[in-house]
Amino acid sequence: MMELEQQFNTEEACLEYLSKIRWPEGFRCMRCGHDKAWVTKENLHFCIRCHFKNSVLVGTIFQDTKKPLRLWFRAIWQLTTQKYGANALGLQRVLGLGSYRTAWTWLHKLRRAMVRPGRDRLSSTVQVDEIYIGGEKPGKRGRGAAGKALVVVMVELKEGKAGRIRLKRVADASGPSLEGAVKEGVEPGSIVQTDGWEGYGGLSELGYVHEVIRKEAAIGKNLLPKVNRVVALLKRWLLGTYQGRVESSYLDYYLDEFTFRFNRRMSASRGKLFYRLIQQAVAIEPLLPKGIHHEFVK
Ligand SMILES: [Zn+2]
Repeated sequence: MMELEQQFNTEEACLEYLSKIRWPEGFRCMRCGHDKAWVTKENLHFCIRCHFKNSVLVGTIFQDTKKPLRLWFRAIWQLTTQKYGANALGLQRVLGLGSYRTAWTWLHKLRRAMVRPGRDRLSSTVQVDEIYIGGEKPGKRGRGAAGKALVVVMVELKEGKAGRIRLKRVADASGPSLEGAVKEGVEPGSIVQTDGWEGYGGLSELGYVHEVIRKEAAIGKNLLPKVNRVVALLKRWLLGTYQGRVESSYLDYYLDEFTFRFNRRMSASRGKLFYRLIQQAVAIEPLLPKGIHHEFVK
């Protein structure tokens, strides 16, 4: 934390860092592609060919922010270095933000940034199973269960252990829903291991090598082994960070955050996570959440 404060003690230092990440091979004008610019007093890159004022913040989650970047950087540090991440109330407190709403909005923008645009799909061998989140009892497969979200869990096997994951919320456990999730998350040609649920019956036709490694097809319990391990961690994490109170409409954000953390859990350096998240934050469009959700207030 002290290192962070020292390295990013001015707005200029933060902007310079963002510029390096946004233009790793040196400045490029967003309008004409020219590579020479003056940096103005307002920290804009003034293209000497077309005179366009390039802002490093345009098109990133920092666009139009009224708060100092130093504060944003601290928020990202909090989010990437805490084992269980950060919740809005905690972040508001640590950063001394005046409003809960700001903390909440920032967290959701950052969670969105955790999903890398155009990220790779899983490959080689992948275990796929589904769970319900938000309910106590396992529901019946193939039907919607009230108040529960159905999530497809995809786990890549790496030397017999759980490698990268993808989580995808689906409407139901029908063939089209499950196949859609697998197509989005797994590279064709990969081995896909499932249980005997008929919803997975069409995977071979989609170009996957389908292996049924368990005959039963009961949802939410008796999960495939690697999926089971991931789900245990996911549930513990939701409980630890959000007291298990996750509103269904925001579940996707939490799933993204968990995926980001899980896929980088072996990363030795916390600084690398920080860098990664900033890198992704400058690569996406800003998003304004529609409502406000109180994680703690019922
Ligand atoms: Zn230009």
